[in-house]
Amino acid sequence: MEEIVIVGSGPAGYTAAIYAARANLKPILIAGGLPGGQLTQTTDIENFPGFPDGIQGFDLMMQMQKQAEKFGTVIKQDIISEAKFNSEANHTLILKSGLEIETKSVIIATGASPRWLGLPSEHNLKNKGVSACATCDGAFYRDVPVVVIGGGDTAVEEAIFLTKFASKVTLIHRRDKLRASKIMADRAIANPKIEILWDTVVEELHGKFALESITVKNVKTDKLSTIECEGYFVALGHTPNTKVFANAGVDVDEQGYIKFERDKTETNIRGVFVAGDCSDRDYKQAVVAAGMGAKAAIDAEKYLEALES
Ligand code: NDP
Repeated sequence: MEEIVIVGSGPAGYTAAIYAARANLKPILIAGGLPGGQLTQTTDIENFPGFPDGIQGFDLMMQMQKQAEKFGTVIKQDIISEAKFNSEANHTLILKSGLEIETKSVIIATGASPRWLGLPSEHNLKNKGVSACATCDGAFYRDVPVVVIGGGDTAVEEAIFLTKFASKVTLIHRRDKLRASKIMADRAIANPKIEILWDTVVEELHGKFALESITVKNVKTDKLSTIECEGYFVALGHTPNTKVFANAGVDVDEQGYIKFERDKTETNIRGVFVAGDCSDRDYKQAVVAAGMGAKAAIDAEKYLEALES
């Protein structure tokens, strides 16, 4: 029986592993389908403390992995296919490889995946102008036009944020009304640097080595037009990677984010903790996920200590 298994290898998972390993819990970390998590898909990271000159997302995750391994974390390149939360301090994780791990505690740090439109040209231009995180990448688009796709609070917030850098922000929404809260929507509508294209969908992105323009279609008139832009930010919401745990009885909200005790990180199941974007609808920042990973490991350590006393 293991003391603790951490599921996920983003900032939350690795930070939890560093803390758990330093507490001598000999953690096993299951790296998941995208080892290193979402940050391995981005380029420069300028807002993670400790790196005044920025760091590449991939390099940051390699450093975190090294630090977790240095203190004794065992990393398995595998995916959870089923979880069974049997009884107090008796949980089973079944991996895709067929391996079954029994453990007293679990930290779920499986992250969330941004939703994309799914166009091949969108995929091909990722990190070449195409991004799912304005907070991460917005500052690279100074004095050039950018577009934001979506009509929710994230889209509006990102569009407003991007006006600090971009020469112009075009918000493209498929309907004639924003989903965003009224106060946010009013702010975007009043911002002179933001133009909103209503009833509009993206048909194609153009550019070989970097994004140059997009073709959009007005869904009411079927009219096609071209927008020159160097940045393209999707804000279509995120899907938390929690299905396997929800199927095993972990409480999630209506969008699939794992619920946890206020000011603690324990879920509705004793000994099962959560950290990072799979439980975070609002912030979705690496540093926040890392902080929550530390909290989850500390909470798990206290839980395991209490079991013994
Ligand atoms: P939402 O799910 O609220 O919005 C997603 C947006 O993307 C919608 O406008 C939706 O259009 C659009 N969309 C989805 N799929 C497609 C598609 N295939 N093609 C075109 N458009 C598409 O996600 P958010 O990330 O904006 O927000 C998530 C939650 O976080 C919300 O509860 C939000 O209120 C909250 N939040 C709060 C903030 C704050 O309070 N400061 C900041 C950011 C988020 P449609 O409207 O037509 O469905």
